[in-house]
Amino acid sequence: MNATTIATRLHRVRDDLAAHARACGRSIDGIDVLVVTKQQSTSAIIEAIAAGATQIGENYVQEARAKFADLPPVRRHYIGHIQTNKAKALVELFDCVQSVDRLDAITALDRAATAIGKRLSILLQVNISPSDRFGCAPAEVDALAEAVRASASLQCDGMMAIGPTDPAAVPDAFALAAACFARIGGRTLSLGMSGDWREAVAAGSTMIRLGTAIFGPRIAR
Ligand SMILES: *Cc1c(COP(=O)(O)O)cnc(C)c1O
Repeated sequence: MNATTIATRLHRVRDDLAAHARACGRSIDGIDVLVVTKQQSTSAIIEAIAAGATQIGENYVQEARAKFADLPPVRRHYIGHIQTNKAKALVELFDCVQSVDRLDAITALDRAATAIGKRLSILLQVNISPSDRFGCAPAEVDALAEAVRASASLQCDGMMAIGPTDPAAVPDAFALAAACFARIGGRTLSLGMSGDWREAVAAGSTMIRLGTAIFGPRIAR
């Protein structure tokens, strides 16, 4: 996929998002686009940044380490499953960790952030779908938010969730995500991907995470 296509897709998505936000009685100003760069080359990511991307998301520590050194300044989000033995790398590489879903991850990230004197933004990942393997149960999110508030170096900025693969289940799942977000508070509800961002914006998402909509289909792994 060439650079023009990435820029064109990003601009088209922004236009679609602005129109859809208006149709939902919202403004695009309240909705961030997180460009999901997993499996994308450094040059493809640089093209997206040149076209206006200001926030990127990666799922794998190894991949992030290989690519981040060569990127212009951009806000970096971790959206993959957390392994506690990678906490130090996560804290060093990322500005925000969106996939915090259990107490031992909170403890490990807090310890690693405190060790280097960094304040780390986190989102709590809530499981709203039987097709998602990760995320805390909706009933657990309040206690985890408390644990983050009691931590030394983590700041809870909201929550993240992954929608169900069954389109018919999306509206109820997103309503559940919005209800959890209303309980814990924060500025970021990271909800919606290439296939379901419209429903997410209708449900109140403040950050949509787009990979294939910007870069085209990924190779299955
Ligand atoms: C891969 C991924 C995305 C982007 O998915 P697309 O369908 O390509 O937009 C968003 N969020 C998470 C957590 C992901 O792993």
